[in-house]
Amino acid sequence: MRIFVYPGSFDPVTNGHLDIIDRAAKLCDKLIVAVLKNRSKTPAFTMEERVSFLEQVLDGRGNVEVIPFSGLLVDFMKEHNATTVIKGLRAVSDFEYEFQMALLNKNLAPEVETLFMMTNIKYSYLSSSAVRELASYGGNIRDLVPEKIVDQIYDKLKAY
Ligand code: ADP
Repeated sequence: MRIFVYPGSFDPVTNGHLDIIDRAAKLCDKLIVAVLKNRSKTPAFTMEERVSFLEQVLDGRGNVEVIPFSGLLVDFMKEHNATTVIKGLRAVSDFEYEFQMALLNKNLAPEVETLFMMTNIKYSYLSSSAVRELASYGGNIRDLVPEKIVDQIYDKLKAY
């Protein structure tokens, strides 16, 4: 069984993430969406909210599972018998950091591969931080995140 892991903070999940999830899920038997707990910056949404958003929008995708994680990604990979890390690339600006992470992980666990998927051009400008910023000012996020979670995002972030 081929198990891939797609790690991120998903603060909140966007249509760009979902596009990567759908494409990556076709390449493996099981895709684990690993939701990061230990980011240096406090997330806008709690772990429970971030996992709940993912579960609501993943509805019906049989081979995708959402699991919170903290600690080293390579340990998480071993624990779940996963072979491959999936990362999305939007722009050259993503590359340097991801390149470093991939090489660090390769050094820690040579058997783990990192697979980069190019963003869908439609979502190349899209990030969770842009969604948070827009939502906090009441801007339109309807084309950026799944309809199901739009109001929940506004409820939490809208300043008025
Ligand atoms: P963000 O960078 O939006 O805050 P995350 O830290 O949750 O998101 O990112 C998790 C993964 O998803 C990373 O590999 C990131 O490059 C990828 N990703 C995020 N947004 C997009 C997008 N619009 N298109 C493709 N990949 C994306």
